[in-house]
Amino acid sequence: MNKLGAGIIVGVAIAVAIIAAIVLSNSNVSSPANLQSSETPKFKVAASFFPLYEFAKNVGGDKAQVYSFLPIGSEPHEWEPSIQEIEGLKGTKLFIYNGAGMEAYISKFMESGEFANMTFVKATDGITLLKADSAEDDKEILTQGGMDPHVWNDPIYAEQEVINIKNAMKKADPANAQYYEDNADAYITKLSALDNSIKTGLSHCKKDTFVSFHNAFNYFTNRYGVHDVWITGIAPEADVPPQDIQKVIQIAKDKDVKVIFSEDLVDPRLANTLASEVGAKVLVLSPLEGINETEQQEGKTYLDKWHENLKNLRVALECQ
Ligand SMILES: [Zn+2]
Repeated sequence: MNKLGAGIIVGVAIAVAIIAAIVLSNSNVSSPANLQSSETPKFKVAASFFPLYEFAKNVGGDKAQVYSFLPIGSEPHEWEPSIQEIEGLKGTKLFIYNGAGMEAYISKFMESGEFANMTFVKATDGITLLKADSAEDDKEILTQGGMDPHVWNDPIYAEQEVINIKNAMKKADPANAQYYEDNADAYITKLSALDNSIKTGLSHCKKDTFVSFHNAFNYFTNRYGVHDVWITGIAPEADVPPQDIQKVIQIAKDKDVKVIFSEDLVDPRLANTLASEVGAKVLVLSPLEGINETEQQEGKTYLDKWHENLKNLRVALECQ
C-alpha cells in the first residue's frame, strides 16, 4: 500500500472514531430527556373501523396511539375478530365503536370480564338513529336491533361522533384535555367544509336518484335531499333475490340512470351485470367502511374519499 492509501485509511478511521464519539456523547447527553419523552406512555385507542379510526386519529393527534381494530381491506359488516386480534387489544384504554348493530361482536366484548380495564365508547351516542329498511334476508341486522348504522356518511352526524370521541379522550387523559378539544374543533371545521362542498356540489343537478351498491346512504340522502335505490340491503355481502335485482333494473330504466355504483371493498361483478342490463357505466361510491392497502399507503383519508364520492355523485346526478 502506498503512503497516500495508508493516509486515507488512517484518516477515515479517525473520522469514524470522532463520529462514534459524537454519537455516543450525544446519546449520553440526551438520553435522560429522550427517555422521558419517549417513555411517556401514549394511551392506546382502538377504533372499530375506518371512519371512527380517522376521527379518533384526528382528535388524538400525537398524544394517543390510535389503531383500527378492523384489518385493512376488510369489510366491517358481519366481521368477527380472530383470537389473535382480540389478544392484540391488550393495553388498550379506549375502544371506540359505532353501535347500531355495526359491530356484531361488541356485546360479547362488553359482557366478558376480559376487558375490565378498557372503556367502551359508543360514537353514535346522542344521534337519532333511523330504522334499517332492510331486505328480508338481513336477519343478522334485525337481531342486532334493526337500526341503520351508517351515520358516518352524513358529515354533520360525523361531527357528533367526533365530539363523543373527544369527550372520551378528555376523560381518559385529562392532562391533555385542551389538546383534544382543539384537535376536535379543527377537524369539525373540516367536516363542516365537506358538508358545504356537498351542498354546493349537489345544488344544480338534473337527476335526484342514484343507484348505490348497498343501503349505506340513508342519513346522507336525508341530509342532502336526494334519493337512492340500493342493490344489496344494509350489508354489502347479503344475497340478493333475483326479483329484487329486477326491481332495481326497472327503477334504473324508469329513471334513465346512467351510472350504477359499485364499492371499493366488494366484488364489482354484480354492479357490472346490472350496469350492462341498464346500459349504464359503473363508478365507485364508497360507503367509507374501509380502505385497501394502496389507499392506506397513499394516506387516503375519510375526507379524501368523500371528495371522490362527491365527484362521482355529481356525474351520476348530472350536476353542473
Ligand atoms: Zn354498510
